[in-house]
Amino acid sequence: MMEKVPQKIKSMRRKIEKMEQEAHILIEKAETQEELNNVRVKYLGRNGLLAQLLKLVPQLALKYRPQAGRLANTLKRKLGEALRGKYDLLRKKKEENELRIDITMPGILKELGSIHPVSRTMEEISRIFMNLGFKAVEGPEIETDYYNFTALNIPEGHPSRETFHTFYLDNGRLLRSQTSPVQVRVMEKERPPLRIVAPGRVFRPDATDASHSFMFHQVEGLAVDKDITFADLKGTLSVFVREMFGQEIRMRFRPHFFPFTEPSAEIDISCIICGGSGCRVCSFKGWLEILGAGMVDPNVFGAVKYDPEVWQGFAFGMGVERIAMLKYGITDIRLFFENDVRFLRQF
Ligand SMILES: [Zn+2]
Repeated sequence: MMEKVPQKIKSMRRKIEKMEQEAHILIEKAETQEELNNVRVKYLGRNGLLAQLLKLVPQLALKYRPQAGRLANTLKRKLGEALRGKYDLLRKKKEENELRIDITMPGILKELGSIHPVSRTMEEISRIFMNLGFKAVEGPEIETDYYNFTALNIPEGHPSRETFHTFYLDNGRLLRSQTSPVQVRVMEKERPPLRIVAPGRVFRPDATDASHSFMFHQVEGLAVDKDITFADLKGTLSVFVREMFGQEIRMRFRPHFFPFTEPSAEIDISCIICGGSGCRVCSFKGWLEILGAGMVDPNVFGAVKYDPEVWQGFAFGMGVERIAMLKYGITDIRLFFENDVRFLRQF
């Protein structure tokens, strides 16, 4: 009987040593906190291997029990320390990974946008006039019949209403067919002298083709002061066409009719492609029509209570797409509105 007791304590010591070796290997191998926790549960958990081992202690002779308990406690302490050490290591690694920035990694390319050619042209036109002392103002795209027609000397039944036909809304309002209503709105609020340009979107119920769109852009200009003459209009527009298209550009005025100006003219510039000798772009005429202008009709002044005996003014208006097409050699107006980036990327 006396021989068997040391055998039991010896076997327990061997079991503990083996358990310690295996546990250390598993702790070493654990790569995540979760794996490490599984090792802890396996050895130190409530039903873990160490707990099972401790259940065998009462089977030992009384005098060997303290020794067995010490061995088990030592193992518990050692494994606890090893687990904590490894846990800290894994946590540090995880934090480092989260913080690490690899400067050799290729970056995320941000697509660079550019200004739409219509916006760019509209800004360029406005800027030239602003440098001449004009102020840029905007007005509503939904207008009343009064501002779009009547106040501009186009009374109901006037044949010019046909030319400026537009979209009519159910509430009696309409989409403005020109930026000229802005002139009236400004003149109602401000006293002369004034110089304004009104860039913006306008609408006409035209069938869409290479040179027509139901929506396009205009820049409208107005100057009101004492002693303003047709020469001021001509001087202002000649500065504009040279700034816009080049110093060698020539300009000509053709008599025309607009209801809101008198006299009125259409203005051509010498062809920017052929210089006037004739080509396909200018239909072999040597000239390109670019804008309409004239002296403000006294009836328009009457509508805003300016005394036409005291104040004179000139007004002009141009289509932005038309200017952009000439300037950039674009042959189809629809390209502006199709949102094809292959087209837009060129600007
Ligand atoms: Zn030409």
